[in-house]
Amino acid sequence: MPVCTTCTHWLPHLYTVYQSAYNLRLEQCPNCHSFADPYVEHDELTLVIDLLLLKRAVYRHLLYNRDSEPRREDGTTAEDDNEQPKKARGIPTTLQDERELSRWRLVLRLGLTLTFVDAFIRWSHLSVQPASIQLEESPNFSPWNIGTISGFVKIFLGCCIETVSFHAGVIIACYVVLRALHLRLGGLQSDIRREFRFSLIPLALFYSSFTKLFFLFLLTIWRPSRTSQPLSPSDGDTLVLLPLNFDLDILSALNFMTDDNLDREWIVRNVMGGMSAGFGLRVILDINPFFTTLIILCGWMVKTFVSRLISGWIGDNVATAEAWLASSIP
Ligand SMILES: [Zn+2]
Repeated sequence: MPVCTTCTHWLPHLYTVYQSAYNLRLEQCPNCHSFADPYVEHDELTLVIDLLLLKRAVYRHLLYNRDSEPRREDGTTAEDDNEQPKKARGIPTTLQDERELSRWRLVLRLGLTLTFVDAFIRWSHLSVQPASIQLEESPNFSPWNIGTISGFVKIFLGCCIETVSFHAGVIIACYVVLRALHLRLGGLQSDIRREFRFSLIPLALFYSSFTKLFFLFLLTIWRPSRTSQPLSPSDGDTLVLLPLNFDLDILSALNFMTDDNLDREWIVRNVMGGMSAGFGLRVILDINPFFTTLIILCGWMVKTFVSRLISGWIGDNVATAEAWLASSIP
């Protein structure tokens, strides 16, 4: 059911369609007097950019308003409008079931696509060193042999298992938190809380993972160079003077800031990923950030437990298993 993207007030329609094609008028929200959903008119690129920038309104548009029916210029009158909310709250359950079902289908499609992208990013991070070594050994080495493909399939399956366990942990934690809050607040509920369905949780989590995956993808393209020589003070002349020593300190500090030690991939994956997931949950749950943080932590705990279980199967050798764990554990 559509909501106002500014104030989440419930609305019967978001826009009116006139008989002439490509002619529509946005509805005004009676509560906050802004346009109910300006994203109806925006193109996909704007949606994606605003999604990356974590704008609340675009989340509301994608989660609640995506396939809402417009008002037709011919039949519906103004009086019907006032009646509509009451009627619509008791809309047939078959229609609601249908909506819920199509939402789960979208979750599955989106989930598979995003997990595939995630698996590709992880695979390219995990398999970059063995590939370059193999390339040195035999110039005819092709990246598309059985070994690399089965490695990728393993990582993809691992990512799927991890995603499912994270989502299951978050859904269970959401259920517990909502039950506890409902018992405390009684019947007092906002429009958003009333519209809550469990299918919204994985959908919001997948939408919020766009930001993380986008930055991880950028890191995959612009990989920092790993060929730089390690700096150690003993390399230098024994007659090293104080200023030079000082320079070395700065350089080693800078070195610390750049590549391996401060793992940018880890930060993007976990800090940025966790923050945007919490943001996505806040849009659908309408609760204090403390609770969404708690819910995300529960999801991480379940995910960490599961990825420990499967790490031995993912990596043939200890190094790969450890690298897998390092990127999947917060
Ligand atoms: Zn409004």
